[in-house]
Amino acid sequence: MEGFAKANLFMEGRAKVDSVVVFFAAPIGSLSFASIHEAGHVVTAKSVGMQVMGARVFLQSRGGFSSYWKGSTTLRANGSSRDMAVVKMGGHFAEFFIDDSNVLRVPSFLSIVGNRKTIISQSDVVTAADLGGVSLLDAQHRTYRALSGNTRLLHSVFHKLWRSHVYP
Ligand SMILES: [Zn+2]
Repeated sequence: MEGFAKANLFMEGRAKVDSVVVFFAAPIGSLSFASIHEAGHVVTAKSVGMQVMGARVFLQSRGGFSSYWKGSTTLRANGSSRDMAVVKMGGHFAEFFIDDSNVLRVPSFLSIVGNRKTIISQSDVVTAADLGGVSLLDAQHRTYRALSGNTRLLHSVFHKLWRSHVYP
C-alpha cells in the first residue's frame, strides 16, 4: 500500500512528457485554489497556441482524516520550449488573480514575482530547457501578460472548474 502511494505521488509530481502530451499536476489546496491554478495553465497554454485537451480538479483523501483538492491539465505541446516555461508558471501566477472572496482581480507583476512563500508543484518547476534561452524575467513577463490580457477567459475557465470540476 505504501509502495503504491509512493508510486502514485511520483507520477503526479512530475511533468509526464508522453510524446507531445504534457500533464501538469497542481499543488494541494482548496477547490478555488486548484481551480484558479489549473485555469492559469489552460489560459497560458491557449495564449501560446497550444492545444488544451482538458483540465480537471478533484478531491483527494489524505489518509481518511482530511482531504484536499488537486488538479491536472493535459495539453499538446508545440515546438517552443520557451512557451512551456510560460505554461508552467501560468498555474502559480493565476493564483494571484483572485482575492480571498474568489473575485477576479489583476495583481501587479511585482506582487507575484515578489512572493516567495508559495510551494510550487514539482511538475511546474521551470528548467533551463523550458526557458529555451530567454531570461526568467522575460518568461515571467510573458506569463503575466498572457493572464492579465485574458482575464475574461481566465474567469470563465476558473468558474467552469470551480462549479463542474472539469474543463471544457
Ligand atoms: Zn500547476
